[in-house]
Amino acid sequence: AYVIGTNCVDVKDRACIDECPVDCIYEGDRMLYIHPGDCVDCGACEPVCPVQAIYPADSLPAEWQWHLTAAAEVLSGH
Ligand code: SF4
Repeated sequence: AYVIGTNCVDVKDRACIDECPVDCIYEGDRMLYIHPGDCVDCGACEPVCPVQAIYPADSLPAEWQWHLTAAAEVLSGH
Protein backbone atom coordinates (compact mmCIF):
# COMPACT_ATOMS: atom_id res chain seq x y z
CA ALA A 1 0.00 0.00 0.00
CA TYR A 2 0.96 3.63 -0.38
CA VAL A 3 1.20 5.73 2.76
CA ILE A 4 0.74 9.43 3.48
CA GLY A 5 3.34 10.87 5.84
CA THR A 6 3.94 13.89 8.03
CA ASN A 7 4.26 16.40 5.19
CA CYS A 8 0.49 16.22 4.77
CA VAL A 9 -0.23 17.49 8.28
CA ASP A 10 -2.16 20.78 8.10
CA VAL A 11 -1.77 20.80 4.30
CA LYS A 12 -4.43 18.36 3.07
CA ASP A 13 -4.12 19.48 -0.54
CA ARG A 14 -6.55 16.72 -1.63
CA ALA A 15 -5.13 16.38 -5.17
CA CYS A 16 -4.49 12.72 -4.36
CA ILE A 17 -8.17 12.11 -3.62
CA ASP A 18 -9.10 13.13 -7.17
CA GLU A 19 -6.56 10.69 -8.63
CA CYS A 20 -7.33 7.57 -6.61
CA PRO A 21 -9.28 5.08 -8.77
CA VAL A 22 -10.62 3.15 -5.78
CA ASP A 23 -11.48 6.09 -3.50
CA CYS A 24 -9.38 4.80 -0.63
CA ILE A 25 -8.03 8.17 0.55
CA TYR A 26 -9.90 9.68 3.48
CA GLU A 27 -9.75 13.06 5.17
CA GLY A 28 -8.84 13.19 8.87
CA ASP A 29 -8.66 16.14 11.23
CA ARG A 30 -5.15 17.22 10.28
CA MET A 31 -4.09 15.00 7.38
CA LEU A 32 -5.31 12.59 4.75
CA TYR A 33 -5.06 8.82 5.13
CA ILE A 34 -4.78 6.00 2.62
CA HIS A 35 -6.68 2.86 3.58
CA PRO A 36 -3.90 0.26 3.60
CA GLY A 37 -6.28 -2.60 2.89
CA ASP A 38 -8.02 -0.96 -0.06
CA CYS A 39 -5.03 0.68 -1.84
CA VAL A 40 -4.28 -1.17 -5.09
CA ASP A 41 -0.73 0.21 -5.39
CA CYS A 42 -1.41 2.02 -8.66
CA GLY A 43 0.85 4.94 -7.70
CA ALA A 44 -1.42 7.60 -9.20
CA CYS A 45 -1.53 9.67 -6.02
CA GLU A 46 2.21 9.96 -5.45
CA PRO A 47 3.22 12.43 -8.19
CA VAL A 48 0.31 14.82 -7.67
CA CYS A 49 1.08 15.50 -4.00
CA PRO A 50 2.52 19.07 -3.84
CA VAL A 51 4.42 18.34 -0.62
CA GLN A 52 5.75 14.85 -1.48
CA ALA A 53 3.97 13.24 1.45
CA ILE A 54 3.11 9.97 -0.33
CA TYR A 55 5.37 6.93 -0.54
CA PRO A 56 5.02 3.22 -1.19
CA ALA A 57 5.12 1.53 2.24
CA ASP A 58 8.40 -0.20 1.43
CA SER A 59 10.21 3.05 0.69
CA LEU A 60 8.58 5.18 3.36
CA PRO A 61 11.20 7.14 5.31
CA ALA A 62 12.03 5.33 8.57
CA GLU A 63 10.74 8.17 10.72
CA TRP A 64 7.38 7.94 8.95
CA GLN A 65 6.86 4.20 9.36
CA TRP A 66 4.37 4.76 12.15
CA HIS A 67 1.99 6.39 9.67
CA LEU A 68 1.12 3.00 8.19
CA THR A 69 -0.13 1.72 11.54
CA ALA A 70 -1.83 5.04 12.28
CA ALA A 71 -3.76 4.92 8.99
CA ALA A 72 -4.94 1.38 9.69
CA GLU A 73 -6.19 2.46 13.11
CA VAL A 74 -7.85 5.66 11.97
CA LEU A 75 -9.58 3.87 9.08
CA SER A 76 -10.52 0.67 10.89
CA GLY A 77 -14.20 1.51 10.49
CA HIS A 78 -13.96 2.15 6.73
FE1 SF4 B 1 -5.29 5.19 -4.40
FE2 SF4 B 1 -3.50 4.25 -6.17
FE3 SF4 B 1 -2.71 6.02 -4.30
FE4 SF4 B 1 -3.34 3.52 -3.59
S1 SF4 B 1 -1.62 4.15 -4.89
S2 SF4 B 1 -4.02 5.40 -2.56
S3 SF4 B 1 -5.01 3.04 -5.03
S4 SF4 B 1 -4.17 6.41 -5.98
